[in-house]
Amino acid sequence: MFQWLLLSENTLTAAENNVWKESALRIILVSGFLLEMGIGILSGWQALQLGHYYILALDGLFFVLLAIAIYYSVRRPVLGSALLIATIYAAAFCIAYFITDQEIARLGLMFVYTAPLIGRMFFGPRVALLLMGINVFPFWLILRHDALPTYPGLGPPLADAHGYIQSLLFLFFNICVPLGVFRLLHALDASIIRHSKSSKDLLASHAQYQEIFENAGGAILLCDVQGTILKANSQANLLIGRDPGDTCKLTGLLRAGTGTAAAPATPDFASLVPGQELRTSAGKLITIDRITSASDNHCIVLLRDMSNMRQMQDALEQSTQRVSFLRSHDHLTNLPNRSMLKRHLDEILPTLRPERRLALVTLRLDSIKYINDAHGMATGDALIKSFAEALAAQVPASGFCTRLRSVVFCFLLDSDADSLDAVTQAEYICSQLPKEIAVDGEQHQVRLSVAIAFSRHDDASSDDLIQRGKVANDSARQSGGQQVSVFDETAAARIRRKLSIEQAIVAALKAREFRLVFQPKVDHDAAIVGLEALIRWRSSLLGEVSPAEFIPIAEGSGTIRQITAFVVDQVCAHIRQITNLQGSCLPVAINLSAIDVVREDLLMLVNASCQRHGVAPECLEFEITETGLIGNENLAIQHLEALRAKGFGITIDDFGTGYSSLSKLSRFPTKSIKIDQSFVAQIGLNEKSELIIRAVVSLAAILSCTTVAEGVETREQEVFLKAIGCGFFQGFYYYRPMEFEQVVALLNANLSGA
Ligand code: C2E
Ligand code: MG
Ligand code: MG
Repeated sequence: MFQWLLLSENTLTAAENNVWKESALRIILVSGFLLEMGIGILSGWQALQLGHYYILALDGLFFVLLAIAIYYSVRRPVLGSALLIATIYAAAFCIAYFITDQEIARLGLMFVYTAPLIGRMFFGPRVALLLMGINVFPFWLILRHDALPTYPGLGPPLADAHGYIQSLLFLFFNICVPLGVFRLLHALDASIIRHSKSSKDLLASHAQYQEIFENAGGAILLCDVQGTILKANSQANLLIGRDPGDTCKLTGLLRAGTGTAAAPATPDFASLVPGQELRTSAGKLITIDRITSASDNHCIVLLRDMSNMRQMQDALEQSTQRVSFLRSHDHLTNLPNRSMLKRHLDEILPTLRPERRLALVTLRLDSIKYINDAHGMATGDALIKSFAEALAAQVPASGFCTRLRSVVFCFLLDSDADSLDAVTQAEYICSQLPKEIAVDGEQHQVRLSVAIAFSRHDDASSDDLIQRGKVANDSARQSGGQQVSVFDETAAARIRRKLSIEQAIVAALKAREFRLVFQPKVDHDAAIVGLEALIRWRSSLLGEVSPAEFIPIAEGSGTIRQITAFVVDQVCAHIRQITNLQGSCLPVAINLSAIDVVREDLLMLVNASCQRHGVAPECLEFEITETGLIGNENLAIQHLEALRAKGFGITIDDFGTGYSSLSKLSRFPTKSIKIDQSFVAQIGLNEKSELIIRAVVSLAAILSCTTVAEGVETREQEVFLKAIGCGFFQGFYYYRPMEFEQVVALLNANLSGA
């Protein structure tokens, strides 16, 4: 029941809530109905006893009226309210009109004074004012001293009528209406509490919203449909240059993004679309990130500052370009690199007309190695850079000047079939290149090997031409000529042969394809005084290869170290066998290359081998060519002295072919000098050669060295050599180089002969 009477307000829509009205209406009606029931029963009982049936009818009428009002208060509260006001006026009228006692009648009229209050509660101020105006009439009737009009013919009122009416007034003014007003005030209190709570919530949520709005991570604006800025966060204000309090249009602060000064300035707000680029009045590039319709015809606009983004994009683009540039260009000189040249050649070679050829001119900066060693890599780099600039300045733009490898540059020339014009052009360009380049104030010599290779119509790919260019340049370098050399098949074959020997040596070392032969050395009586070990190689791939061919290649590729180790070990093993055979050792000479002489572990290697096979140092000699001593002289002397000190013999081989001076020769710890066979071959034919041989023999005598003539093939040569005092002889005239088994047989024969 209480729930039905009090109802409860909707907490969310307190302002518009009418629940309290219905509740107050029900309270007034129900309390009025109950009171009226009490008074009605009492007055009705009295009226029944006195026969005043109209009172019963009036009581009944008000019961019905109030019951109907209660009924409608549930379904149609407005009608219920109207019925309540009507009941009040009807009650006042009935009391005044149907009760003859003037005092009671005037009391009854006072009923209507509650009507404006009830009217205000349920219908608003206008109805209340109207009722206040209407109430002037009953007030006037009460003030008048004249009797109030009464229903004619009525008897005296009920004995307790005064009490009934007073009770009605008391109960209505003191209970029904106050209860209704209490309900109203209660609703008001609750509403105030709710309102203050929601105000607080609103403030908190506004602060949160403000925080989000400010820190949402972008420039956010709230605009109306015309584009007037209603609100903007500080990022947006900063971006578009707006003072926070300004009321202005967004488009008034912007102009078309790609527009120049002459471009249409302000775009239309309605035409703005996401992604559109605009410029602020300060010239900043921005973009519309998003436009979203909000409530109340408002729009939320998200702006993005593109100036940084654009800078980043530009930087990214530049770095991408740089990366692709570096991929196709040389870092140091910025010239195109090999892969770019290849791409270029692959493009132009197929388009070459049959009567034309393409000349690839390669230039190798030979002097760079010396400069790197002597002055450091930085100077070398600076020189390469300056040279590249000088070259690029001389080569025509179509020449595609390229850094092919570290010190190899190249460019292209269009040539006719006989290729002479290309050679002339290349020679001219090379003649224009600087002969010296200054780095850090110091002049450095520029030495070049220049070569040309020509395209062929049967070339499978650009690699063929580049490879021919390499071969041409390698052969130009080997010939040492300063003129431009043209690729030729002989040079290419020579280089190919060199490459295949280089590779085959590695395999030969593993497959043990090397072996030694021995050539005896004899004295004046043709007695064998020693042997020279000479290496032989029958390659499974290349057939018989002469040491004169493969030793220089092994020196170049570094495999000579393993070869020498093999020779030293083999010779020591054979010396042991000979010693075992004849009871004493026969000295064996080993040829050392220039690289062997300067290797740090030479003495260690020799000692180890001698120890392994139990060979005394006197049994081992080393032959070093004169040219092998040029270069790292001090180190060579140091190593040779160490060998000599140990007791090993040292011989200078091929003497006379180099350019050793007497003073230089005296520094070497030499035991013996071998006269080169080219002089021996000239004995009897060339007087000059004979003179040289005489000089060498005298020189050896001065230095206390023995002399050996190599390559003795005839008796005439022997006679001459013996006559001038040459100590020992070696050559086909005595013995050819022979297998070790033959040496053993020979020694055995000599032993048994003795
Ligand atoms: P070399 O040390 O001057 O050796 C002498 C060369 O002359 C040998 O050639 C030998 O067979 C050859 N010869 C000897 N007597 C005569 C003759 O009467 N007439 C002619 N025409 N030639 C004669 P080979 O064996 O072909 O060796 C050539 C060069 O290879 C050697 O010249 C030597 O410098 C080098 N060599 C040979 N074996 C080795 C080795 O084990 N190590 C090193 N580092 N070099 C070696
Ligand atoms: Mg020799
Ligand atoms: Mg020799």
